[in-house]
Amino acid sequence: MGQLGGIGLNRETMDQLIAAAKAASEAAYAPYSGYRVGAAVLVAGGAVVTGCNVENASYGLTICAERAAIFAARCAGHAVWEAVAIYAPQPPAPLPCGACRQVMAEGGNEPEVIVAASDGSVRIFHFDDLLPNRFMLT
Ligand code: ZN
Repeated sequence: MGQLGGIGLNRETMDQLIAAAKAASEAAYAPYSGYRVGAAVLVAGGAVVTGCNVENASYGLTICAERAAIFAARCAGHAVWEAVAIYAPQPPAPLPCGACRQVMAEGGNEPEVIVAASDGSVRIFHFDDLLPNRFMLT
């Protein structure tokens, strides 16, 4: 399979990531918003690590799916990620919030961000377009 316009992922890999993100969304804990999201991170070497949003009665403690997945990947020893797919059952496909973008800014290797929803909509972004001129200490 060829690469998708301008990005490094092939169609099969992208579809696998979206399927993994969709499966992860089923574990979401979203009793307050009802907005269940899953994410799947493709790390260097080809492994896929997933996460889901986990809400809390103290709303500010809630964590988004993509941040949970990035943290889970890091905790599993994966320091570099190449792509993340984010899936929500309700369209429109969710773009990462600002906090997640800042977390995603570390460890990416020319990363791509795929956002998908149950209506089949898929948008693909190069991470640098989502958070240009970001805060970094190095
Ligand atoms: Zn977020």
